[in-house]
Amino acid sequence: MKGYMGFRGVPGHEFVGRVVESDRRELIGERVVGEINCPCRGCVLCRAGLGKHCRSRSVLGIQGRNGAFAEYLTLPDVNLHRVPASVSDREAVFVEPLAAACQALEQSGVSGGDKVVVLGDGKLGLLIAMIFAVSGAAVAVVGTHEKKLAIAERAGITARTVAGAASCAEADIVVEATGSPTGLECALRMVRPGGTIVLKTTVAAPHTLDLSRLVVDEVSLIGSRCGSFDEALALLAENRLDVLPLISAEYPLERGREAFAKAGERDSLKVLLTVSG
Ligand SMILES: [Zn+2]
Repeated sequence: MKGYMGFRGVPGHEFVGRVVESDRRELIGERVVGEINCPCRGCVLCRAGLGKHCRSRSVLGIQGRNGAFAEYLTLPDVNLHRVPASVSDREAVFVEPLAAACQALEQSGVSGGDKVVVLGDGKLGLLIAMIFAVSGAAVAVVGTHEKKLAIAERAGITARTVAGAASCAEADIVVEATGSPTGLECALRMVRPGGTIVLKTTVAAPHTLDLSRLVVDEVSLIGSRCGSFDEALALLAENRLDVLPLISAEYPLERGREAFAKAGERDSLKVLLTVSG
C-alpha cells in the first residue's frame, strides 16, 4: 500500500482461486494457485530459461499487472497449478512464499546436518526455517518477536532472540530474511569462513556495508527470489510442514483496510482476505 517499486493498481500476489475462463477448457472450474511472474517468452533471457528475470515481465500485484485483492485476476494458463484436494485453501495461499523458501533451500546447497541460521521471524523467515528443518539441517531461527519465535519452537525448531544468538556463530549457512537493511551485516558475523549466505531481503533503501569479511573469509553470497510451485505444493500435499499457525486473522474483502491495519501490527503474520464464498 506504500507503493513498493512504484506500483499502482490492485495489490495481492499470494492467492488461491477457481478458473472461470481459459482457452484450456480442462482448467475451467479447477482450484488453482498461480506463479506471479509473466515473462515475454521471446527475449534472450526468456529463451535461456530465465523467464522470471525477463526485463519486460509483469508481476501479479507488484509490477504492471493487477493482483489478487479483487473478484477476478488474469494470468497466463501456463502460470497455473492445480491444487490437490488434500491441500486446503488456507494452506494453498502459502504456496507462493513457500516456493520462495524452497528456492533458498535449493540455492544454499545444504546437506544433512549442516548448521543453518535463519535471520528473521516474519512469515518468510519461519517458512524458510521449516523447510530447512524438513531437509534434515540443524536449524535455528533468530528474531525479535516472542510469539513468532514460539511458532518456530512448536514446529521443533530452535528459536533465539537476537540477544541470545551467540550459539548461532560459525553457521554453515545463514539465510537472511529480516527485511532490514542491517540483516546482511548480522549474517556476515554469523557465517563460518567458506560458508554461504542466502539473501532474501529486498532492501528498498541504499545502505553502506563493509564487505571485507566476505572476501577474507571467502563467503558465498547468493541472492534468492521466486521458486518452484510444484515443490511447494508437494510439501503441503504430503503434510511435511504445518503452515496454518502462521495465519493471524481473516477478513472479507470489504474490510480490507482493517486487514491491512491488522497486518501492520507487531505480532501479525499472515492476514487473509476472503474475496468470495
Ligand atoms: Zn522476456
